[in-house]
Amino acid sequence: MVTALADAVWWYDLRGVNAALVDDGGDLTLVDAGMPWHGNALIAGLADAGFELRDLDRILLTHFDFDHVGGLPAFDGIDVTVYVGERDAPLVTGERDPPLSNHKGAFQRLASSFLDAPDNPVVTLADGDTVGSFTAYETPGHTPGHVSYVSERHSLALLGDMVSEDGGRFEPSPWLLSYDTDEAARSVAAFSERAPAVEIAVPGHGVPFQRGGSERLGRLAATL
Ligand SMILES: [Zn+2]
Repeated sequence: MVTALADAVWWYDLRGVNAALVDDGGDLTLVDAGMPWHGNALIAGLADAGFELRDLDRILLTHFDFDHVGGLPAFDGIDVTVYVGERDAPLVTGERDPPLSNHKGAFQRLASSFLDAPDNPVVTLADGDTVGSFTAYETPGHTPGHVSYVSERHSLALLGDMVSEDGGRFEPSPWLLSYDTDEAARSVAAFSERAPAVEIAVPGHGVPFQRGGSERLGRLAATL
């Protein structure tokens, strides 16, 4: 099931984690790919929004984590390009293992045994790179290669796990789930400062905001 957040923006509530679908001027874009068992739900959501599987053009990933890349193999054999921040890319492709030297990395190492790398091409994004109407902003902390995306065309920010929503407010990424909470806090502040203001803001977990997204993030930034 998907829920429309705007004319061309849909929210996947995958029970515990979010993904989003955007009709980006004819380029159908999935943002994040759920857990390994979410492939069918992701494909069903395309139909709910009025599309077919072959309509999908690209997948933007906010970061490498079990609950955001797990469903990628469901799109093997379909002509899509996967985009991810450059520091998380080698983990998505399986070229590198998550580092055991960091508590979050060690957790990722355990979880990665349940993950398959996608067959589709993986393109790396640096800060400021654009894909269609989306601009990538490096927002490290939760993971080293975490990126958030902004599309002014859709007045939309996809925040991944830089923040989550809880009780109608944004919360920062907690220590247990973060590589570096200080860096994560700095990312919230820097992103708030430099990203254009948008209405719709979709976090990786919790309920998206359809109005005042940037303002709400700014409120959190002011407390960090
Ligand atoms: Zn997550």
